[in-house]
Amino acid sequence: MQRPTTFADARASFEDAEFVIVGIPFDRTTSFRPGARFGPDSIRLHSWNFESYDLETGIDLEDAPVHDLGNAEEFGSSEDMVRTVREEIGPIYSAGKVPIVLGGDHACSPPVVEAYPANAPSLGVLYLDAHMDFRDNYLGDRRSHACSSRRILEKVGSRNVVVLGVRSVSRQEIEDNKGIGMAYVTAHEIAREGIASAVQRALNMLKTERIYISLDIDAIDPAYAGATGTPEPFGLTPRDVKYILGQAAPRLAGFDIMEVSPPYDNGNTSLLAARLAREAIVRSLAARRSH
Ligand code: MN
Ligand code: MN
Repeated sequence: MQRPTTFADARASFEDAEFVIVGIPFDRTTSFRPGARFGPDSIRLHSWNFESYDLETGIDLEDAPVHDLGNAEEFGSSEDMVRTVREEIGPIYSAGKVPIVLGGDHACSPPVVEAYPANAPSLGVLYLDAHMDFRDNYLGDRRSHACSSRRILEKVGSRNVVVLGVRSVSRQEIEDNKGIGMAYVTAHEIAREGIASAVQRALNMLKTERIYISLDIDAIDPAYAGATGTPEPFGLTPRDVKYILGQAAPRLAGFDIMEVSPPYDNGNTSLLAARLAREAIVRSLAARRSH
């Protein structure tokens, strides 16, 4: 694969940027099929497909304050990754900027949330995933991608996480959650009640000032995003996720896209991930500009 230098149109300096792209090439905790460590560069490569002008907001990404910091250094263990990611992401929040993080497997998300400063406005997390990722540990690793919503909940509190799009859980995860009470909206509920009502319900549950959105690409149906480690039928559509980003944009504190696995990709999954990253940026920027 040709190695792209940056995400398309990310021309601003770090100082001038309001959005900072960071890649995390880590997939040591994938449980079925690996490859997500190639996600950041594949998403960058495919980002060059698109026109820089956004039809709906009138924003031209060539003029948008976006910086690409590149990829975090390669890691050893998952604990090593967690430490490095916290150190990379902390200064982005502290400078008042929005991190746009490209993974990597879903183990990369908790440290991005954990880096959120204690003195910043309150933070909730909208966790888009086919899976609940609610195991306390998986094969002895508490930092596995199968434990990510649980680690995030330990940072922001059980009332401040909503999982959206879930359709694959273990009995143990449901049992564990009975005493904890993390909210979730299943993909089946979304199909029944409609995306607008389901998203409204989820956003109303998050009483926090700001929202971090973590997108496991497997939240989206494998028909659209099959290049992922653990694909699961009956998922969301790309347009559902586009809608979610638009609704959450005024409160967006950070956004990640995890679990894109280029070895299984004909290009469509990376392309969709790149487009969704651009959508998050233009929607959030439009909301910031209107204030
Ligand atoms: Mn996940
Ligand atoms: Mn998943």
